Amino acid sequence: MIIILLGPPGAGKGTQAQRIESAKGLVQLSTGDMLRAAVAAKTEVGKKAKDFMDAGKLVTDEIVVGIIADRIEEEDCKNGFLLDGFPRTVQQAEALDNMLDQKNLRLDAVIEMQVDDEALVDRITGRYTCADCNQGYHDQNLKPKVGGVCDNCGSTNFKRRADDNRETVSARLEAYHAQTAPLLPYYEARGVLKKVDGMAGIDDVTAQISDVLSGLN
Ligand code: ADP
Ligand code: ADP
Ligand code: ZN
Repeated sequence: MIIILLGPPGAGKGTQAQRIESAKGLVQLSTGDMLRAAVAAKTEVGKKAKDFMDAGKLVTDEIVVGIIADRIEEEDCKNGFLLDGFPRTVQQAEALDNMLDQKNLRLDAVIEMQVDDEALVDRITGRYTCADCNQGYHDQNLKPKVGGVCDNCGSTNFKRRADDNRETVSARLEAYHAQTAPLLPYYEARGVLKKVDGMAGIDDVTAQISDVLSGLN
């Protein structure tokens, strides 16, 4: 199964992708996570991407398309994958279509997570993750069961993203509306777009996505 999670920054894509990954055995491919790893490792890709990311702008199509093209060749993608944060431009979507065509693969569904812009600022500024296993949390909405201890791995180290601040959020939302939202009609026209109410609670959104996935053949 090949699924895309589409939605603005902070919509809950990563949160839901982690849950679907463990429930369905679909590997989560997050271009944001891959780019942050490249920046931390100071690779050539990381050096090229850093300034765009810090400014809340999209990195070039060439960079992210290259990353995804390499990644889906790996063994763990054989049984399907869940794209989180890719594609984000029509050009990226076209490049993905070509990659899938060449491999004789079919895109099963694009799940649009609908969330109001006002809610996104709180989600993004309250977001943090476990520094060891990347499990996502939120200051108000999703706290670890035991304060300061990761539910998943027991770590007491947490981190916040450099770009999760108020200033960058507006640039990221602008990029979403200008460059990514045109993907909605693109996929709607193909009959693969499924909408979920991303304003609902985290468990409710998971249930909505499960319903969509179980309706696919
Ligand atoms: P994205 O990957 O789309 O940028 P995340 O999954 O990282 O978004 O979610 C952003 C923040 O909002 C995280 O801190 C997460 O815990 C929280 N969050 C995710 N889904 C919901 C929800 N349905 N309701 C409230 N908070 C949520
Ligand atoms: P969020 O879901 O909160 O927007 P991501 O982790 O998906 O965050 O992305 C963080 C940043 O990485 C983006 O603001 C952008 O600079 C870059 N990025 C991630 N995925 C893409 C992509 N598909 N195309 C271009 N830039 C991307
Ligand atoms: Zn952890």
